[in-house]
Amino acid sequence: MKASKATEFYFDKAADELSLPDWLRKLLMTSKREVTLQIVCEMDDGHVETFLGYRVQHDNSRGPMKGGLRYHPDVDVDAVRSLASLMTWKTAVVNIPYGGAKGGVCVDPTALSRKELERLTRSFVDGIHDIIGPDTDIPAPDMGTSHEVMAWIRNQWEKYHGFNPAVITGKPVEEYGAKGREEATGRGVGILAVKSLKRMGIKTKDCRTAIQGFGNVGSHAAKFLWEAEFPIVAVSDITGCYYNPNGLDIPAVLRHTLANGSLAGYDQAEFLPGDDLLTLDVDLIIPAALGGVIHEGNADKLKAKLIIEAANGPTLPAADDILASNGVIVLPDILANAGGVTVSYFEWVQNRQHYRWSLDRVRQELDRTLSDAFEQVWQESVSRQVNLRSAAFILAITRVMRATELGGLTS
Ligand code: NAD
Repeated sequence: MKASKATEFYFDKAADELSLPDWLRKLLMTSKREVTLQIVCEMDDGHVETFLGYRVQHDNSRGPMKGGLRYHPDVDVDAVRSLASLMTWKTAVVNIPYGGAKGGVCVDPTALSRKELERLTRSFVDGIHDIIGPDTDIPAPDMGTSHEVMAWIRNQWEKYHGFNPAVITGKPVEEYGAKGREEATGRGVGILAVKSLKRMGIKTKDCRTAIQGFGNVGSHAAKFLWEAEFPIVAVSDITGCYYNPNGLDIPAVLRHTLANGSLAGYDQAEFLPGDDLLTLDVDLIIPAALGGVIHEGNADKLKAKLIIEAANGPTLPAADDILASNGVIVLPDILANAGGVTVSYFEWVQNRQHYRWSLDRVRQELDRTLSDAFEQVWQESVSRQVNLRSAAFILAITRVMRATELGGLTS
């Protein structure tokens, strides 16, 4: 199933609950603008490569559009369209004043040198600089892009438009970035895991946890959960799954990945094929890598009671139904991984005020924003007798719909 079809399915389910007419569904689901562009890049050996880049701007009824940039070989317009729409619902669920957008380049960034990556990034900005900006569309990092890439984007954009660091978030802290941005998505996942367990009456120290993906999100989630005394029994990355039924020593795993660049070679755990992580005997699974990993073929085999969707779109609709009928609680991506965009918002606010917040303030405001959203979604789910995903979509669609109506439908 195409990524955009999955998002459309979840949107429609919530739209049915709200009895939305077809014309309004079409209006809310159609992107405002979709740009595909050619990116020409000279490689280190002098030959020229051509890549395809995308920026999809989905909705701006609640504010400037916001969404990450992904560098990955699977990036295409459909994937970006789906992620852009998810950003609209995500910013609405946590009630920050943004719309949704997403972008990316179809490229394997690990196959490029640092200089090639910089040239590709600057060439991408040359193609999109006039459609992004602090009041229109503010990109951020996603898979395959880092704070260094964000710094290049700002620098290239400012060559056209002058000083304005609020054009992009996820920048290095010393380059107008926000303290706490790098950890924010993983930390948010951790905050929401603790809240979910409280509702479910499970103690954190009894919650055997497996985390798929050990990049920015997975590693920061692991750190937060380890400090909160969750037994983390398995982690995985592209190199495979590392399992220790007695609990992994997460600080040691973090040191290993920092020194080696991946989990490969970590020997204080049993090595398993990557896909095995999802079917281990655990209470909580945190998918924090790619989309579509929980599908019709494996949903019935999952033993966890709770899934926190740190990745975007990890659960396909057919799997969602199977999980629901098995009584598995799924905290949906549009809430679960909203910590990143929330702290991106704090970064943008600081840039616009030329003021810096302390790490404590960022963490407190993040906790408050996510906790409020969690309570609202949980309440909506109870009062409407729908799952948490539908509840989150209902809340988000209601907010976007209201803003669209207030702004005038054809604005
Ligand atoms: P990242 O590039 O830092 O890390 C990705 C991790 O996934 C790496 O450890 C990689 O080895 C692993 N991986 C790749 N393929 C895998 C596979 N088949 N099996 C197991 N692991 C695999 O990316 P990230 O920023 O941590 O993003 C992860 C997910 O979280 C993505 O879906 C992204 O859209 C979502 N997300 C990220 C942010 C953010 O702030 N970075 C915010 C919201 C959502």
